[in-house]
Amino acid sequence: MLTLPALPADTGLNLMQRLEEIAQFSEGGPGVTRRPFTAEHRRANEMIATWMRQAGLEVRIDAAGTLIGRRPGPPGAKTLLIGSHQDTIRQGGKYDGIFGIALPILVLEMLRERSLPYAVEVLAFADEEGVRFPTALMGPRVLAGTFDSANLQKTDKDGETLAAALADFGGDPAGIAAARRDPDDLLGYLEMHIEQGPVLESLGLPVGIVTAICGIERWTVELTGQAAHAGTTPMDLRRDAFAGAAEIALAVESHCRETEGLVGIVASVSVLPNVPNAIPGKATFSVELRASEDSIREAAAAAISEKVEAVSARRGLNYSLTKTYAQKAVPCDPWLRGTLARSLVQGGFRPHRLMSGATHDASAMADLCPVAMLFTRCRDGLSHHPDEAITAEDAQASVACLASFLQMLDPD
Ligand SMILES: [Zn+2]
Repeated sequence: MLTLPALPADTGLNLMQRLEEIAQFSEGGPGVTRRPFTAEHRRANEMIATWMRQAGLEVRIDAAGTLIGRRPGPPGAKTLLIGSHQDTIRQGGKYDGIFGIALPILVLEMLRERSLPYAVEVLAFADEEGVRFPTALMGPRVLAGTFDSANLQKTDKDGETLAAALADFGGDPAGIAAARRDPDDLLGYLEMHIEQGPVLESLGLPVGIVTAICGIERWTVELTGQAAHAGTTPMDLRRDAFAGAAEIALAVESHCRETEGLVGIVASVSVLPNVPNAIPGKATFSVELRASEDSIREAAAAAISEKVEAVSARRGLNYSLTKTYAQKAVPCDPWLRGTLARSLVQGGFRPHRLMSGATHDASAMADLCPVAMLFTRCRDGLSHHPDEAITAEDAQASVACLASFLQMLDPD
């Protein structure tokens, strides 16, 4: 096994301290509110740029407002991209996004004197959450060449266009197309992120390797029966749309419980008439499925459609099914995943694999190059919340894994 230099024991604490410091750049509490292209974003970027320079990185900002710190490689070497987003939702936490920026910069500072056979760039994306403008994942989409320039004319609640906010920030709306990266120059993209779920905590593991960012599909289901008096209609003559919906909801739940790599929910339920003494004549609800593989999701959608049909037939209901949204799963790259697994083993951690149930910058980066993600345990699985928390020990474990990963990654 490769011998790696011992990691300073306080690196996790240093990372926690940096995350604490940058959390002050917030529009106000509770929690952190940092929207893209604002004064808070500008001050956060100044701090990130300082960290980058301290790590020996060359700092620039691209046309989309992504702050980039580059460590050059040997002549002709390809580049590994590592990044995440600096922005938060309103009253978000101190870790979602920014963790994946502060961490690699600190690791590159530690590895400053060690040679690597490739270049590295740390990317601090401006806008992942889509809180200020009705667009999201702007930075990675610009790099991948999948950004729709029509979005530049979209406005925030004060009527300012994305183009104006970006230009004022030091970005370059006219240079968006030219900011696209050449996949031939890239080894891939790695994103370190808090898990935002309870899996690692329930397993007692500090980190986990993402297999795929889930694919998503959503349906609206409408069941129509017969509204009638709840006292005078015998039980066997009822056509109760809500009872049909409830049966389908339980079927969705049990199907997802029994299927590895699949989660699903029935929600957004509305019932008519919604009164205690009338049989519901109509029930409308959403079904959402998320799966690590598209084939799993498609099979589940087919099984649930059959269930809707069967329940409706037995209960004398009419039904309609409308697909309202679909997004393909993004599988993580086997080579990057394999190297992550070796780096976890090197650190003495079980290389547990898990799906990402949430979308990330990596989702859009997958249109550009191979992607991988490493999740870090968060307290109570909580995120998008002021109480979002990780421990210094888990921060240290994450630092150790990335340091090993960077030294093990062999581009040849
Ligand atoms: Zn995030």
